[in-house]
Amino acid sequence: MCLICDASRRGFLRLGLGTAGLAALPRFACATTRKPLVMLDPGHGGHDPGTIAPDGYYEKTIALATGLELRQALLATGRYHVAMTRVTDVFISLEERVRIAQEHKADLFLSMHCDHLPEEDLRGASIFTLSDKASDKLAAAVAQDENSADGPGAAASGVSPQVANILASLETRATKVGSATFSQNLAAALSGTTPMLPDPQRSANFAVLRDPSIPSVLLEMGCLSNVEDEQRLRDLKKRHLLVAQLTRAVDSYFTDSAGGRMAG
Ligand SMILES: [Zn+2]
Repeated sequence: MCLICDASRRGFLRLGLGTAGLAALPRFACATTRKPLVMLDPGHGGHDPGTIAPDGYYEKTIALATGLELRQALLATGRYHVAMTRVTDVFISLEERVRIAQEHKADLFLSMHCDHLPEEDLRGASIFTLSDKASDKLAAAVAQDENSADGPGAAASGVSPQVANILASLETRATKVGSATFSQNLAAALSGTTPMLPDPQRSANFAVLRDPSIPSVLLEMGCLSNVEDEQRLRDLKKRHLLVAQLTRAVDSYFTDSAGGRMAG
């Protein structure tokens, strides 16, 4: 169970502590009004470091730091509930991440990662949505990499490629529109100041994006195979700029028509 959810608020009220008690909850706890819930999913964790930079720095560390900073920024707007699939350095399977988002009835799901490309001069962010067919070779390779987080045994307890394709096709039209809208919002917010890979909006069959009802996007914030990108992602000031851009993208999503309908 995540630290931030309506269940914890209801539990608090059940204890008879009332609304005065609610005010004493930590600032990350839920407020009483209906706000959209944004689920942040820092990739990897625990025994799974994700991709590793040439100097040994881990993707899981950048993903968690940026996720926690984005949570702060989104909460500071007062417009959203925010939940996270992990808030510490623990391993959570891809299936469990989707389950946590469903349990929280998330309105939007953002999985946060860093890339590792064979050409070390390639740098920049890229944005992925779910598709049973990869948009291109690079998207297919990134999905294969990210889907391997659960390890070689995952296929037995997880899903076969055939079932994965069926799950992807179950994604509703509204969810698809929501995911595509958020992908565009992210591209618009990042472009100009954050380096982007060529054709940064791509699609592939990512396990962590497979909920058929929650608009979901996986963001590769940059390439750890590139020294400049690694420095950018480890620099607190530059990360603050990235977080401000991500916050703007979430704002755009919930103020345009598709996102607004999702948020209900
Ligand atoms: Zn990753």
